[in-house]
Amino acid sequence: MPGPAVTEAICLTVQKFSETSKIAILYTRAWGRISVIAKGAYRPKSQFWGHLEPLSVAECVIYKKPNERLQLLSSCRAIAPWTGLTGSLTRAAFGFAVGEFLYRHTYEENDPELFGLACSTLESISRLPERLAARQFWGFMLGAVGCLGFRPEYDVCDGCGRKPAPDQRVVFDAIAGKIICRQCRREGGRPHVLSPEALNELIKRQHQPILDPNEAELNPAALEEIAASIEDFTVYHLGGSRLRSLGFARRVGTVEQVNHRKSKETDEMEA
Ligand SMILES: [Zn+2]
Repeated sequence: MPGPAVTEAICLTVQKFSETSKIAILYTRAWGRISVIAKGAYRPKSQFWGHLEPLSVAECVIYKKPNERLQLLSSCRAIAPWTGLTGSLTRAAFGFAVGEFLYRHTYEENDPELFGLACSTLESISRLPERLAARQFWGFMLGAVGCLGFRPEYDVCDGCGRKPAPDQRVVFDAIAGKIICRQCRREGGRPHVLSPEALNELIKRQHQPILDPNEAELNPAALEEIAASIEDFTVYHLGGSRLRSLGFARRVGTVEQVNHRKSKETDEMEA
């Protein structure tokens, strides 16, 4: 019997296994993504209550056996329940998108850099104003695909090797993962037009994925360009389909925009 090991983990999913036990998929600092069983988790006095929930970050004691599909979680204590995430649908949606990314694209292979980035991102989304949640999420995606070995090149044009002029639109080719300036335009690839504002944000986020709360505003159209280009790059290079949580995040965003507009109209009518 191996001895217990302590590691921090982000809980990605939980499901009922039996009347009393829970199975969870964790993204751990020590081993990457693993499945664990929490025996007795549904018993009334279980020590797991409130500590093993999706997106909570916990200190876990695990009896880790090699080549075992399901590991034994002997105890777990939430160290960051991210209350800001559960208080807002928008924040929750982007938080779940972080979890879904880790669930889909990581394996049992430790990556402390990606683990740290995911924790900092959840913390940032839970603390930042709601309107910055999407922007923070795309900063995470850029950093995360980089951790997995796919780092787009935004600094110089793939054709001429020159830095694009500050006021010039460029094309990002999601297959090559490179930008192309107007003079070097070419056919084919999976092209995405990037405005200078979008390109600057991408270059900045590649060096600093976590947003500063006092970050200068970003035009929503530029954020859309960023989202579409990173999403396409990720789907092409990591495989699979688009993250389902993002569809939810978009629907929540649309509903919130409509509500905001309605309340503005009501205010105007009452004024
Ligand atoms: Zn060029």
